[in-house]
Amino acid sequence: MTAHVLNGKALAAAIKEGVSRQVYACQQKGIEPTLAIVSATNDESSNWYVSTIRKTAEKVGIKTKLVNLSASATYGEIALELGSLAGNGKVHGIILQTPLPQGVDIDGLLGLIPITKDVDGANPLSAGRLYSGLKSFAPATAAAVMALLVSPDIHLEGKHTVVVGRSRIVGKPTAHLLLDQHATVTICHSRTTDLHKITSLADVLVVAIGKPGFITGDFVKKGAVVIDVGTNVDASGNLVGDVDVKSVLAKAGKLSPVPGGVGPVTTAILLKQTVDAAAKL
Ligand code: NDP
Repeated sequence: MTAHVLNGKALAAAIKEGVSRQVYACQQKGIEPTLAIVSATNDESSNWYVSTIRKTAEKVGIKTKLVNLSASATYGEIALELGSLAGNGKVHGIILQTPLPQGVDIDGLLGLIPITKDVDGANPLSAGRLYSGLKSFAPATAAAVMALLVSPDIHLEGKHTVVVGRSRIVGKPTAHLLLDQHATVTICHSRTTDLHKITSLADVLVVAIGKPGFITGDFVKKGAVVIDVGTNVDASGNLVGDVDVKSVLAKAGKLSPVPGGVGPVTTAILLKQTVDAAAKL
């Protein structure tokens, strides 16, 4: 048996098509959907991610505004920019790139993003609302995992879903979104004992740990749906996930691999949430 590969690129293309239509509808009402990105880092992968977002946004008609601060910017300097974007009626979405300069209080800064513009669900208030079942934007990666899972041929209700990883941006919000779909959810992390015993009971397994090829076929129940969130670079410079593709393909029923899975969907969701914010949906 070989698992069916969930095609993140195709899903991302479909989401972006819908976003383009929404952008057009906004423009007809005189609204130009705009995403602001605040960055204060020289980190290469962060800069690459920002340029990917900007290029993709441009293709669907969303404007971007990059506030590029120095990698030694202070809390006050970053806060000033966030405050100005928060009050700018022409900006509909705001993201604050990480890493931030050392010593800067990230939670304080994220708290300055109004929840109506918090299109990557980064403000702790958005997280609290998400966990309370109130309207808020979810972190785009968690929402991307759900976009891959919520489909007519994947059943989440009552199913045992296991999320490996408990970060604020991926593991925890994904677990809550799964719960909202009536799945039974187990969250695992680096201190979980007998991890493979738990993961091998999962009907749906979401992996977000940042360890290349860590999840092999031995961790997976036959026929399970596996979503790989991990993004790692291997010794040859290739992008690889947390899942060992060969052994998991042989065991799983469906696999969202890296590359071509969660990554492109995440960018598409970020833009979808931006246009939703502009349209005040
Ligand atoms: P973090 O480092 O914040 O969290 C990693 C989590 O994995 C932690 O909860 C940690 O446990 C857990 N973990 C680490 N090692 C193990 C292990 N051996 N067994 C079980 N659990 C383990 O990472 P993120 O959540 O930010 O990201 C996870 C991965 O997803 C990364 O590869 C990242 O690059 C990728 N990613 C991809 C995105 C995309 O495709 N768009 C977006 C965001 C992230 P503990 O809490 O105990 O330390």
